[in-house]
Amino acid sequence: MSSKKYVYLFAAGKAEGHGAWRNLLGGKGAGLAEMTNLGIPVPPGFTITTEACVEYFNKGSEFPDGLWEQAIDALADVERAMGAKFGDAQNPLLVSVRSGARVSMPGMMDTVLNIGLTDETVQGLIRKTNNPRFAYDSYRRFVAMFSNVVLGVSHDEFEALLSKKKAELGVELDTDLGTDDLKGLVSAFKELVRHASAVPFPEQPMDQLRMSIDAVFRSWNVARAITYRKLHNIPETWGTAANVQAMVFGNMGSNSGTGVAFTRHPSTGERRFFGEFLINAQGEDVVAGIRTPEPIDQLSQEMPEVYTQLVDIYQRLEQHYKDMLDLEFTVQDGKLFMLQTRVGKRTAVAALRIAVEMVQEGLIDEKTAVLRVEPEQLEQLLHPMVDPSSTVKAIAKGLPASPGAAVGAVVFTAEEAVARGQKGEKVILVRPETSPDDVGGMHAAQGILTARGGMTSHAAVVARGMGKCCVVGCKEIVVDEEHGEFRVGTLRVKHGETITLNGNTGEVIVGEGKLVTPELSGNFATFIQWVDQHRRLGVRANADTPTDARVARSFGAEGIGLCRTEHMFFAEERLPFMQEMILAEDRNARVRALDKLFPFQKSDFYGIFKEMEGYAVTIRTLDPPLHEFLPKTHEEAEELSQKIGVPAERIWDKVQELHETNPMLGHRGCRLGISYPEITEMQAHAIIAAACEIVKEGRKVVPEIMIPLVVDIRELEHQRQIVERVAQETMAQYGVKVEYQVGTMIELPRAVLLADEIARQAEFFSFGTNDLTQTVLGLSRDDAGKFLPSYIEQGLLKDDPFVVLDQPGVGQLVEIGVKKGRAARPSLKIGICGEHGGEPQSVGFFHRAGLDYVSCSPYRVPIARLAAAHVALGKSLSDTV
Ligand code: PEP
Ligand code: MG
Repeated sequence: MSSKKYVYLFAAGKAEGHGAWRNLLGGKGAGLAEMTNLGIPVPPGFTITTEACVEYFNKGSEFPDGLWEQAIDALADVERAMGAKFGDAQNPLLVSVRSGARVSMPGMMDTVLNIGLTDETVQGLIRKTNNPRFAYDSYRRFVAMFSNVVLGVSHDEFEALLSKKKAELGVELDTDLGTDDLKGLVSAFKELVRHASAVPFPEQPMDQLRMSIDAVFRSWNVARAITYRKLHNIPETWGTAANVQAMVFGNMGSNSGTGVAFTRHPSTGERRFFGEFLINAQGEDVVAGIRTPEPIDQLSQEMPEVYTQLVDIYQRLEQHYKDMLDLEFTVQDGKLFMLQTRVGKRTAVAALRIAVEMVQEGLIDEKTAVLRVEPEQLEQLLHPMVDPSSTVKAIAKGLPASPGAAVGAVVFTAEEAVARGQKGEKVILVRPETSPDDVGGMHAAQGILTARGGMTSHAAVVARGMGKCCVVGCKEIVVDEEHGEFRVGTLRVKHGETITLNGNTGEVIVGEGKLVTPELSGNFATFIQWVDQHRRLGVRANADTPTDARVARSFGAEGIGLCRTEHMFFAEERLPFMQEMILAEDRNARVRALDKLFPFQKSDFYGIFKEMEGYAVTIRTLDPPLHEFLPKTHEEAEELSQKIGVPAERIWDKVQELHETNPMLGHRGCRLGISYPEITEMQAHAIIAAACEIVKEGRKVVPEIMIPLVVDIRELEHQRQIVERVAQETMAQYGVKVEYQVGTMIELPRAVLLADEIARQAEFFSFGTNDLTQTVLGLSRDDAGKFLPSYIEQGLLKDDPFVVLDQPGVGQLVEIGVKKGRAARPSLKIGICGEHGGEPQSVGFFHRAGLDYVSCSPYRVPIARLAAAHVALGKSLSDTV
């Protein structure tokens, strides 16, 4: 019976697979197939599919039927292409096995190099290369790597033996070790494995190969890979492909080397070939960041012919893929081989620049450019950077691996970064170099600083992917974990001290640097214009002051979707009047206090309307429970008493009286305006008066008055009557007419279920998904933070529902609300103003649910605009990871 095809060959200029089969062959396998088909020099090999990996796990970690036989057949083709034989003592072929998932997970899964070396085949390698030192160097690397990845013996134990050997000989560098030293290390390593591993080191090449494929599959489920997948929303079910490929050697002497390169600068996006290489080094040396490599331009001096060929290849590949690519290559004895190509990770600045320039170069269209930038990436651009004009002196300078700025306390371990990050503390992770195990700590930190490693080191690649500020290869610093400090010359920076990293220049500053917000011009302006052409959903901002409104406009907000008026009462000169209002004994006294608040409210609204230049402004009447405005302690009550002349006793009595067990379900929202109609009167008066003034100046104004926490049409009717009466009176007073609307928040389940009735009194709805999430899940928005992280950790919840909309639950209610509301009033305008309005996945949902607009914090407006364009262009979640 013939089995399913699990193995796809690429050899002798022909591949069975091709570049579009990323899901089946993984990114690496697809790239190798494509390059082979393009006639680019690629060492021959074969890809074992991701499907095989998934079946391997389904079978309880066993190869699916036929897989091994297919692999052996393909190996024979590779042997023919290379003119060598796997396991042959005279002319041995060596292979590597590398992981490669659908999307790149840099450094997270395993690789085994130099498979096929034994005491016998090493002799063949010596004869072939005439280089015994190289052969034994490869052999000792293989024993250590195989035993670590496949048998689970700690890498440090091999390193310790290596260091011991160097100390005995009084040498510093690995390259100072001679053939016999390396030969001795092979024996010492095997001796170590005999003790440290239950499974013996396999002396048969076929066993080595089989076990390596098995280990690469298993590495899909190592802890760091799982963490990485969680952080990047990569499904557990995808599995990894395994690529078996003939070895070529970058460590065969000074005419060999290995490197990684990008077709454009991954940090700035500049259109120039960018990369690094190491002479006489093997595979992982560059990405591991252990030795600091040389810039790629230098290769034009050292190996001019190889450099010219490499430039030709990168240009062909970029033209072919029409994207910025990340390349890995090896030069063996002057001959160039490409080991990998894939779409390169880049910073937000680079993503924008590359997208815009590729349109200008005619390589891609505007639509493709819009899809090339991830909404969350834009956040990096909107975030502060170290003020370029500030004169603070840096203590050290490394490579600017990922831009932005980070301020935080120095920590030296990923565990501490995670622990302190969870408490909301800001930390900078300082490491000699980072390893893939640090990924959790890097995520929790504000920024990462490493002493070693280049622009393409693991730390740099991962940080860029996360959009984290990162400085690597900062050679001047000495990290001394043991003494809890890092040093620059004689200067000591202690654990816990605050430092600032400048990811744009690579500078390290002691203390808190001055940060500024970047300008949104140039490429950003061009790009966002294309974005706006492709979205349907409107994007407004939540803003409470004229200043916020200005920021919102500068980020492109098309109106204000939520102005929380209570925020206006907290300012120092206003709070006492608010408190006076709350403490008032009767309606008259309350009205007197409200009269004092009126001019403040009116001038705020006037300022906001002016900033919004005729865009709609949704103003919500008072929402929070009143106790929030009153003193929390006796001392504060005393202080207030001095200020407003009300006895402290009475203030304290009022505090007690307003105390509620569940204030979020208590006397708040429209319930306040119903108990104290004069509050709604004053607010409606201030809104309409400000609008009248704007109209009198000949400007446009679109006020929308929004009633919060409604559960019944009668509540809305009650408040609406007040608003309409006051509006009529105010307009008559000014002698002008203002077009205004009255609507409601939909933020409680009953309001959703009765949305058709409520819509009869509402010209617009705005979903308050914060309160709706709280009440649908019965989960207090103020207290859930204490236990939600553990839910997410245990996989009981995928995301925090206050961050990413719970589509099956809360989302369903949103859909019901939209359907019922529009059934009763087809012209009903519908938006959302909870925090979810700026979260890309949720924005996608709101688009599909047919909302008219989302409203979010000003800084997230560009993110929401891009997310809205992506969903309109049909991009689904699985395309975005
Ligand atoms: C909401 O509940 O979603 C909302 C926007 O209102 P607030 O967060 O002010 O309760
Ligand atoms: Mg609310």
